[in-house]
Amino acid sequence: MIETSCIELSRSALGRNVRYLKRRLGPGVRLTSVVKGNAYGHGIDVFVPLAEEAGVRSFAVFSAEEAQAVVAARTRRRTEVTIMGAADPAAIEWAVAEGVSFYVFDLGRLEAAAETAARVGAPARVHLELETGMHRLGLEAGDLEPAVELLRACADRFVVEGVSTHFAGAESIANHVRIERQIGVFHERLAWLEARGVKPRYRHAACSAAALVYPETVLDMARIGIAQYGYWPSQETRMRVALERGEPGARRFVDPLKRVISWKSRVMALKRVAAGEFVGYGSSYLANTPRRVAIVPVGYASGFTRRLSNRGRVLIRGRRHAVIGLVNMNMITVDVTEARDVRVGDEVVLIGRQKSRDISVSSFSEMSQFLNYEMLVRLPREIPRRVVP
Ligand SMILES: *Cc1c(COP(=O)(O)O)cnc(C)c1O
Repeated sequence: MIETSCIELSRSALGRNVRYLKRRLGPGVRLTSVVKGNAYGHGIDVFVPLAEEAGVRSFAVFSAEEAQAVVAARTRRRTEVTIMGAADPAAIEWAVAEGVSFYVFDLGRLEAAAETAARVGAPARVHLELETGMHRLGLEAGDLEPAVELLRACADRFVVEGVSTHFAGAESIANHVRIERQIGVFHERLAWLEARGVKPRYRHAACSAAALVYPETVLDMARIGIAQYGYWPSQETRMRVALERGEPGARRFVDPLKRVISWKSRVMALKRVAAGEFVGYGSSYLANTPRRVAIVPVGYASGFTRRLSNRGRVLIRGRRHAVIGLVNMNMITVDVTEARDVRVGDEVVLIGRQKSRDISVSSFSEMSQFLNYEMLVRLPREIPRRVVP
């Protein structure tokens, strides 16, 4: 089979990110690597062993399926795995038997955990997720009393791995008041639980953005997703870290986060287009002057978002070239008029570095701060992943 594109993961970039983040978190704080969404598109099976090499010993995912993928990929039996979201009764049973921990965000799941632990003959390792103001998942204030009663009544069936919460948008100053309120509520309820004998191994609340801009939210553990892959949660987070380092000039700010992923393809065909002709479907791109166009075999089916129609950039022979026309299902068209030396078979960098130039997911545009997350997570499983130094 001919590969239309491939993804490379950089061992050294991940190592540097993990070292930087651990330094920021401080001594004794556990870094849990969030690998939901197929490790933000990086590929759980390749990413997990690489993160273990970098010293990570704990992973968090959304679903039980993902937890199973992490268990299959880990190279150390004691590497810990946590399910933060979906798990049906069969998955809870698997998790208890396997020693995989999971979030408890309602009383029903706590009861199910107790029953399962009794049946399986092993303790349920739980993280009590508290509702503090995001209004998504979490035990409400009124759930805490019955939860504590159940934990007391079935003490031998539980290990309380954690008490946690999640912030509603720590990457934006616009949410500052809401985040501060959540921090306050979390500490109150945590104190309430601790006063009633609930002693979690880890108290945790921070995601990447919170860990970077609200250091007081880093308690015993931080759940780091996007930053370990080398991306800032938002431009704002990046600016705030740059300012704090006394290096406000974006040019002089040496980015401590290194992109782990590169995504590459090759020029499949070249074509000349006469002035006055449209390129591709419809009339979204008109050649005002004669153009030379390279056709590259990636499209929205391979995760190259349609929003990059007439907007994206790729690298060929160390130079940036514009995506022109609409992104198709399996192809994009790139303007290479100024680069006469471009040939069929030349490497095309969609994300990554070529010579001295760099294309990052976020440099695609400032359209949306969530473009990083979304674009990465859509990289299909079928694209082969390899590790590079
Ligand atoms: C996704 C997720 C994280 C990680 O978020 P990042 O912004 O990628 O660091 C942390 N905690 C929970 C509950 C999550 O769902």
